Amino acid sequence: RYAYVNGRYCHHGEATVHIEDRGYQLGDGVYEVVTILNGKMVDEAGHLDRLERSLSELRIDMPVKRDVIRMICREMVKRNGIDNGLVYMQVTRGVAPRNHAFPTKPVKPALVMTTKRMDFARMAKFTDGVEIITVPEQRWARRDIKTIGLLPNCLGKQAAVEAGAYEAWQVDDDGYVTEGTSSNAWILTKEKKLVTRQLNQDILHGITRKTVLELAVENGIEVEERAFTLQEAYEALEAYATSATSFVTPIVKIDDHVLGNGKPGSFGLKLLAAYQEYAGGKGAS
Ligand code: PMP
Repeated sequence: RYAYVNGRYCHHGEATVHIEDRGYQLGDGVYEVVTILNGKMVDEAGHLDRLERSLSELRIDMPVKRDVIRMICREMVKRNGIDNGLVYMQVTRGVAPRNHAFPTKPVKPALVMTTKRMDFARMAKFTDGVEIITVPEQRWARRDIKTIGLLPNCLGKQAAVEAGAYEAWQVDDDGYVTEGTSSNAWILTKEKKLVTRQLNQDILHGITRKTVLELAVENGIEVEERAFTLQEAYEALEAYATSATSFVTPIVKIDDHVLGNGKPGSFGLKLLAAYQEYAGGKGAS
């Protein structure tokens, strides 16, 4: 199994970065996760667009040209024989003596890639749905930047795991759901309207979110991009988590509130099927 580190493919167990990499010491970097389905990348352009945006918000240069990143992704998929799974890519500001402020001398941003095999065809979450919990929103104010600084997300996900749940939805001080620790949050209201939070600095601009919004419209589902309260979520007909590797995962229970009959609902299953068709078809490259 290979990892890619700054221009080299090395054995995964021997791949290392410098102890003064600013990603390691300061969380000064960003990342992307791209799904591999049948050997192809899903929504690659969207992920690379977001990578470029995250980097530019932090004033980090692209480590290599976009086409080179695409080429390295394909080489990683090939070398590691990934039919289904993900490519993880991370860019940090680079190696410099530790100091909060940016290095004064020019540094080369560091690029690291790994892959992971995943068996999407055999995942119970898609057929049975999942339970989630909620936690207070404790992240910073620029959640639109896909930074590797993920401590509040890790604490939220750990709380979910300890509760036997799949994900934790983060709830802001006003009682509105922002998003999951690694997924966007959706509900289907009693009026059969599909609701997900609008795009601003409060949430990550999910690539899957964008695709699912388009698929919902194509399927004649009414959509509303707005914040929803936790109370609305408790009373929703259905709910879902979307992300590159969650696709559209049906949620059947939020805290102690069972949604519908406790099984994935028809809208969610329809969106999941539409997403799977898209991801294995025109969304793949
Ligand atoms: N929100 C957060 C906080 C995430 O970490 C992720 C997954 N990286 C998402 C939403 C979903 O984004 P995407 O659909 O691009 O995977």
